[in-house]
Amino acid sequence: MMDTSTELSSTNQNNQGTKKIYGQSQSEISEELEKFHVPRKQNSMRTKQIWNWTYLGGVTEFSEIKNMPKELLNQLSKNYTLARNPIANEQKSNDGTIKWLVDLPSENNSTNNQIETVFIPEENRGTLCISSQIGCTLNCSFCHTGTQKLVRNLTAAEIVSQLLIAKDNLDDWHKNNPNNSRKITNVVMMGMGEPLYNFDAVKKALLIMTDCDGLALSKRRVTLSTSGIVPYIERVGNEIGVSLAVSLHAAKDEIRDILVPINKKYPLKELMKACESYPKIKNSSKITFEYVMLKDINDSLQDAKDLIKILSNIPSKINLIPFNPWPGSNYVCSDMRQIKEFAKVLSDAGFSSPIRRPRGQDILAACGQLKSETIRLRSKK
Ligand code: SF4
Repeated sequence: MMDTSTELSSTNQNNQGTKKIYGQSQSEISEELEKFHVPRKQNSMRTKQIWNWTYLGGVTEFSEIKNMPKELLNQLSKNYTLARNPIANEQKSNDGTIKWLVDLPSENNSTNNQIETVFIPEENRGTLCISSQIGCTLNCSFCHTGTQKLVRNLTAAEIVSQLLIAKDNLDDWHKNNPNNSRKITNVVMMGMGEPLYNFDAVKKALLIMTDCDGLALSKRRVTLSTSGIVPYIERVGNEIGVSLAVSLHAAKDEIRDILVPINKKYPLKELMKACESYPKIKNSSKITFEYVMLKDINDSLQDAKDLIKILSNIPSKINLIPFNPWPGSNYVCSDMRQIKEFAKVLSDAGFSSPIRRPRGQDILAACGQLKSETIRLRSKK
């Protein structure tokens, strides 16, 4: 994949650091402190202080840190920053869903370096959907992001930053919620991009988000969604340990080859084999299978029976997603009656098969749509 080093320069003209401190592991911060000649005995305490202020305090400037020597804070601010990536556009839906379009650095000032992050509030939880790449290479035919060519992978800092931006905007920092009533309880890597094609940065970011001294999201409440990059699935279980979701959408290769073309490289038989061993590795709950409901494409009752067959050895939950059309898409959403009958076949066979309630339809909810619309409006100016 492409080089993602957008944070190479560590100072700007104002002698302020530009390299993000978030996105660094604790050991990287500790190594940096050694360079600043922090006494060895204090290194671990200082590292923890930076970590806590960043991920519990939600500080955006080093000067907000209260219990560290000024000289060290000055050194840090000359080399690093806590600033977030700027928000280019924010849209709020009538149902409470919020979608942010975030500007990321680009070498040639392109307006194409933007990603989407979406907050979906529900009665008992708040889910943040985050992106792993700008654009995507995989061209899933029902997905709007698939129409946007890959610009680059995100860095770990840019992935973590999406959670920090959302927490800033929702006022969801620990210091403001002493009784720990978080607004963001769940994170799903289901935004733009294929996370397993950016494995190292995604792994680093998710380990930071689930670190119990900081953001402390439960690994059960963090879900990585893949279109089925088989060689990495075992590594997700072993090295990250979060919940797994698979963008499945068809139970037969001939249909999935069209909907999710990576299926030609990693066909269903191999994908199911990788999934079968995932829960054993992780000793955890079910794998979620995403299934977009497309009229006359994958929504027959025979399709439901085929699905039952291929998932018979996998503890599964099947999310049925009514298709959210976007301009230029070739598909139509299945009728609700058909979706309900499809769901009944699955639940009669013992599968949990909720029909996902469409969210944020008034704010260009299909992944990738806000970015396209913003580019379209800019080009009209
Ligand atoms: S569904 Fe995911 S993997 Fe497929 S094109 Fe869209 S963003 Fe890429």
